Amino acid sequence: GAKKHLSADFDYFSCDMEEHTRWRLDLIRQLKHDFHAERLAVWYQPQVAIHSGEVVGVEALLRWPSEAGFVQPPSVFVPLAEYSGLIVEIGEWVLSEACKAYHVLSPLQESPLRIAVNVSMPQFRTGNLTERVASRLGSSRVPPSALELEITESIAMDEPKTVIAALESLRALGISVAIDDFGTGYSSLAQLRALPIDRLKIDRAFVDEIRDGKGGLFAETIVTLGKKLGLRLIAEGVETPEQAGFLRALGCGEAQGFFYARPMPLEELRDWLAARQARQ
Ligand code: C2E
Ligand code: MG
Ligand code: MG
Ligand code: MG
Repeated sequence: GAKKHLSADFDYFSCDMEEHTRWRLDLIRQLKHDFHAERLAVWYQPQVAIHSGEVVGVEALLRWPSEAGFVQPPSVFVPLAEYSGLIVEIGEWVLSEACKAYHVLSPLQESPLRIAVNVSMPQFRTGNLTERVASRLGSSRVPPSALELEITESIAMDEPKTVIAALESLRALGISVAIDDFGTGYSSLAQLRALPIDRLKIDRAFVDEIRDGKGGLFAETIVTLGKKLGLRLIAEGVETPEQAGFLRALGCGEAQGFFYARPMPLEELRDWLAARQARQ
């Protein structure tokens, strides 16, 4: 009968779950091992001022290389690193790498270069994120004004008190804060207004919708909202000149995406940046 059928389904489901759990635990173990064996990498993607085409920043993006390419993409292993708490250590390492990248790349620039680093909830839960970040910037001799931290909307809503206090102390040091993937979370306008932030990063999903002169409704709404709140704006996932032009017309200051450049290893980005400066 129906009951039997349901329980059979359930057994199948739980077995599958177990296998999935084992796969996740194996992957976490492997990630931890490879991180300690210094096998992770940080790649960098330029952030560009749309009106001038000038590179204004670079976002640090984790990679887990293997002989055959990559073990897993960040969309798979970053959540596991978050779940296991490993992201606290890994995140500090990413910041230290980004600080090194700053010293390699900023001499190639006429204007100041920003380094953007993603931060996860477990890093806020340490209770001393600001001290950790400040101490790394100090030992790396990177000015706080050169650092932008990217946090997702859900982080900001998770434990608002903890997060708001940390963001306030980070910003008091001169570090800026961007809300990543903006528009995909569930924050209310009231919550958004309470957040001490500097920038909204328009999610790729809304940039994707800009095609054939149409579909920019959400991008436009986010730009309008950001401007009213006095926030700076960047769009992620810009893949075509049309999207860049559309965003520029809306008044979105900056963009990041394959149209400008893909994420690259540091050496490659250094050469790319040098060649770009030489052309100008
Ligand atoms: P994110 O912070 O939103 O990063 C932007 C993602 O969009 C990156 O994916 C980037 O490679 C991709 N991207 C950039 N331009 C384009 C484009 O024009 N088209 C398309 N289709 N994609 C584009 P990636 O590197 O796979 O990273 C995925 C996510 O993993 C990041 O999303 C971020 O949430 C997380 N992540 C990466 N590195 C770190 C890290 O060091 N710490 C933490 N906590 N999370 C990280
Ligand atoms: Mg990001
Ligand atoms: Mg993003
Ligand atoms: Mg994204």
